[in-house]
Amino acid sequence: MEIYVARSAGFCYGVKRAIKLAKKTLEENKNIYCYTLGPIIHNPSVVNDLEKDGLKVVNNISDVKEGVLVIRSHGISKEEKEYIKKNKAIKVVDATCPFVEKALAIIELLKKERYYIFYLGDKNHPEVKGLLSYIENDAFVFLNVDEIPEKKFKKVGLISQTTQKLELLQSAVKKLLPLCEELRVYNTICKTTTVRQKEAKELAKKVDLMIVLGGKMSSNTKKLTEICKEELEKTYHIETVKELKKSWFKGVKKVGITAGASTPKEHIQEVIDIIKNWGE
Ligand code: SF4
Repeated sequence: MEIYVARSAGFCYGVKRAIKLAKKTLEENKNIYCYTLGPIIHNPSVVNDLEKDGLKVVNNISDVKEGVLVIRSHGISKEEKEYIKKNKAIKVVDATCPFVEKALAIIELLKKERYYIFYLGDKNHPEVKGLLSYIENDAFVFLNVDEIPEKKFKKVGLISQTTQKLELLQSAVKKLLPLCEELRVYNTICKTTTVRQKEAKELAKKVDLMIVLGGKMSSNTKKLTEICKEELEKTYHIETVKELKKSWFKGVKKVGITAGASTPKEHIQEVIDIIKNWGE
């Protein structure tokens, strides 16, 4: 069995940075409470390892009264930021990814300049909830271009969640352009996401089976699975090596592997080792 691994598979820049900052914070604050609000990245086993080293994951900012708060890669809401500002006993280590910061600056600018904002994203994702809180949720959030209403608009600003598919943003432009007097588009999909998706698509075209490795809650991993499935029905999204099934590989000659932005290289290697073993 031949195994091909996408070059971009595994940790992205923002995730590497967040983990590095969390580890450094834990080392420097050994006897101090260290928290993250929600998982720092969307990979349970990486989060578990950090928890073993002392990081506490809380789901409500009011549970943090003192200590150090490491802000997750996909940022926090305006209300949470205000709570931290008021509470002087909390020291902040900001691991928000610069791509998310950039999207926030753009959405605030669009709001200030009175554009009607169309936001391509999943309204239940923490990144989306966080960003929208800074503009009082004053945006039309959609995941499917068919949701865009067929009516005329004067000034429209179009922006995207950092992990969406470029094709979706392009189709939103196509749909909105005839409806608007002015359309301002920002491609806020992060570069690593675009490269990773492109490579996954190419790889899915040339193999018989695709494995997409990454957290089940990870938006970018879910998108990778969708993209690969469009090319190849035999695409499997697994979170851990334990979910692999030998029966999937019957008659398979070429296997492609890609992984979400929160997946460590060692997890990819574990998958390779098992498949290689079965191939032999
Ligand atoms: Fe940043 Fe993109 Fe990684 Fe999200 S996927 S953390 S936006 S680099």
